[in-house]
Amino acid sequence: LIVHVRVAPLGEEYILLLADDRTDITRTEAMRNDFVANVSHELKTPVGAMSLLAEAINDGADDPVAVRRFSTRMQKESKRLAALVQDIIELSRLQSSDSILHGEDVAIESVISEAVDRNKLLAEEKGISITVGGKLDVAIHGDGDLLMTALRNLIDNAIRYSPPNTTVGVGLRQRDGYAQISVTDQGPGISAEEQERVFERFYRVDGARSRQTGGTGLGLSIVKHVLANHGGEVSLWSQPGQGSTFTLRLPIVDEEGAEPSELATDT
Ligand code: ADP
Repeated sequence: LIVHVRVAPLGEEYILLLADDRTDITRTEAMRNDFVANVSHELKTPVGAMSLLAEAINDGADDPVAVRRFSTRMQKESKRLAALVQDIIELSRLQSSDSILHGEDVAIESVISEAVDRNKLLAEEKGISITVGGKLDVAIHGDGDLLMTALRNLIDNAIRYSPPNTTVGVGLRQRDGYAQISVTDQGPGISAEEQERVFERFYRVDGARSRQTGGTGLGLSIVKHVLANHGGEVSLWSQPGQGSTFTLRLPIVDEEGAEPSELATDT
């Protein structure tokens, strides 16, 4: 809760500032507690499932078919757990700093093509083709691995939430000193009410579907933080039944080192 009050005497203003400070601390603490509660809940699911599966394997040790079935499921759960832990660590790391401290100039086009390549197999399994259009022969100041993670998450989502035999389009564009990368799918789309919420930690439009497709519920939250740390932003256009487009906007490094706002509009 933030209270805006204008008070003339200095003494009273001091007290009000203290109250604001405390509110901020309380809010940060509440958010941290929320995160811890969510994390524990999310971790309990695969851990609980693995424990039950181990028991089932023990009980059915004489039946090789059952053992194979349960151990396959156990493998799936352990993969899910590993993905979850990795995303939690990534997100905590991103949240602990507001900006990239030791960045370098990253050739964004090669990061994009590698992100596409790494998702090719997943796409092929669903008969989905990924097309890349446009050019982006520029550098971004930042962390190449994080930018790769953000792009992979968007392309991975586009594939996972789309029906088979559709197309995922990656569009590249340079505008006003910014690089724009869009990922468009022909999936179910996201309603206006859900669009804000999908960037929240662990928020899923359809929990069962997300878990089934291997989602951790942290992908878009990670994307949002990566972009914020690079002085950029992520936006979403979507309409139910008409697919979704996620667009990343990142400041380009100019050869003379000018800020994006100082640069002229280019192609
Ligand atoms: P998850 O691991 O569940 O995919 P994300 O943070 O990446 O977590 O996404 C949050 C939710 O947003 C997903 O559970 C899904 O409901 C929705 N979502 C994300 N990307 C898409 C997309 N391309 N099309 C439709 N829904 C999407």
